[in-house]
Amino acid sequence: MTPSRHVTVRIDLNRVVQNAQRIAARTRVEVYAVVKADAYGLGAQQTARALADVVHGFYVFSVPEAIEAGLHDLTGKKLIVLDASQEATVEICRQYRLRPAVWSVQRALDLREARPILCLDTGMQRFACSPDQADQVLEAGNCDEAFTHAVRLEQVEQLVQVLGGKGLRLHAAGSALLDHPTAWLDAVRPGLALYENAVHVSTHLAEARSSNRPAGYSGFVVPRHGLILAGYSNGIRQAMCLINGTPRRVLEVGMQSTFVELGEKDKPGDQVILLGDGLTLPIAAGQVARPHELLLRLCASGVRCYR
Ligand SMILES: *Cc1c(COP(=O)(O)O)cnc(C)c1O
Repeated sequence: MTPSRHVTVRIDLNRVVQNAQRIAARTRVEVYAVVKADAYGLGAQQTARALADVVHGFYVFSVPEAIEAGLHDLTGKKLIVLDASQEATVEICRQYRLRPAVWSVQRALDLREARPILCLDTGMQRFACSPDQADQVLEAGNCDEAFTHAVRLEQVEQLVQVLGGKGLRLHAAGSALLDHPTAWLDAVRPGLALYENAVHVSTHLAEARSSNRPAGYSGFVVPRHGLILAGYSNGIRQAMCLINGTPRRVLEVGMQSTFVELGEKDKPGDQVILLGDGLTLPIAAGQVARPHELLLRLCASGVRCYR
């Protein structure tokens, strides 16, 4: 995807910090900030620097993500890495202060000196060990911590049932389980919830037209429509936008332009908000995309700036 120079992506790091503080105050457990995939598009480096004094640790998907963002220098905090491609070695983990997740006896043995963290499979069926192998992996890695990737409470219950009472630090909850105190355990691992209301994405109407004839590839008919200069090559893929304070439908996304529905008075040059100012991720996404995917796409769709 290429950023459109017509789209402005404003990232409010203060809001990210406030989101983290609110989660910490509410749960009263440690918060590990998920900054994988360049912090969902907000920028891992900038986000981690902003959060360094607020959270207890960070979680990334891969070793290169952690190294490239310089997380070890920036934060001085615990860095959990999933390491699905086995790039983590004891030396690398020590050098970059990474705590690798493990889910096989062999990897746990190999990484024993890097203080590995067990990842238990409670239904996701990826990057995790089955409950009947958990004890062996724990022992092989001499683990003092374990987690599961959970989106439902039953999964948290299974983690506790299999690994509770062994003196392990346990965590499970991402954003989807922050409303459930029984999911908080010893720490929470939010991604999306940290970034909510922290990104504002906007562009301007390049054209506006009133017409009762079919338009675009799909032949949509609306009384008035407009064009913005960003399309699916820039990552645009959504249901709604906001023009002059009114939520408007995205009618058709093209390669480098997108048709939006307009009101009578909307005119070229008017601001079109793709995210922010009350247009939140689930509304912007509608049935079109998951909020995670939309955030990532929108952050990449234009020129990123920070405040
Ligand atoms: C991505 C991820 C999270 C965060 O998920 P959100 O829904 O963005 O909060 C938590 N845990 C693991 C293991 C993940 O991979």
